Amino acid sequence: MTRHAGGALCSVPEGSHSSSFNASGNTGHSVLVLNRLYMAVHVVNVRRAIALLFRELAEVIHIEAGRYVNYDFLSWREISQLKLEFEERDPQSDWLQSVHFAVEIPRVIRLLSYDKVPRRGMRFNRRNVFARDGNRCQYCGKRFVTSELSLDHVRPRSQGGEMGWENIVCCCVACNSRKGGRTPEQAGMRLVRVPKRPRHNPLLRGKLQNPKYESWKAFLSDAYWNVDLT
Ligand SMILES: [Zn+2]
Repeated sequence: MTRHAGGALCSVPEGSHSSSFNASGNTGHSVLVLNRLYMAVHVVNVRRAIALLFRELAEVIHIEAGRYVNYDFLSWREISQLKLEFEERDPQSDWLQSVHFAVEIPRVIRLLSYDKVPRRGMRFNRRNVFARDGNRCQYCGKRFVTSELSLDHVRPRSQGGEMGWENIVCCCVACNSRKGGRTPEQAGMRLVRVPKRPRHNPLLRGKLQNPKYESWKAFLSDAYWNVDLT
């Protein structure tokens, strides 16, 4: 396997060939998926993205000199090959390496025949609450792994508390049992932060702080922050 300077290199197991590229596993990189109308609808792992490209269900969208250029998988492979041969390696790029060829991991792909528009509104679910609170117990302020956190009704259900962004927070086991079926005031506890519906998808916000995902920003105006993540 050839090693290239800069950027991360992901390998496809020995003996793989192009048709088994989608068996290369999850490399930890994410790919933004647009619908046919160039609206962000999803974030997928590299394996899924390559499978979509390989089956010609999607194409690569790549920024070149401030313009978006579309490539089918074959052309993208060829361009990748040329880059390897003739260009200085971009440190922000990541590559997937098979025995037969290397391909730059695309950051953005576009589905060729899907034109549904993204769902509006941030989904209220456990994962998004944990992400909003940064896995921090909202009473003691300490961080925990997900398995040691639960969701707490700030105002208990028995007192009319609802299941929603403004009344549900991350809570550790100790704080949860200390609080019991009481409001924070009744339990003499204080919230680290008043819970609110997040304006932006908290999982995406993390990604966007990474310069590798700079190209996502163009497709993630406020209206498109609510893509589903896998
Ligand atoms: Zn706690």
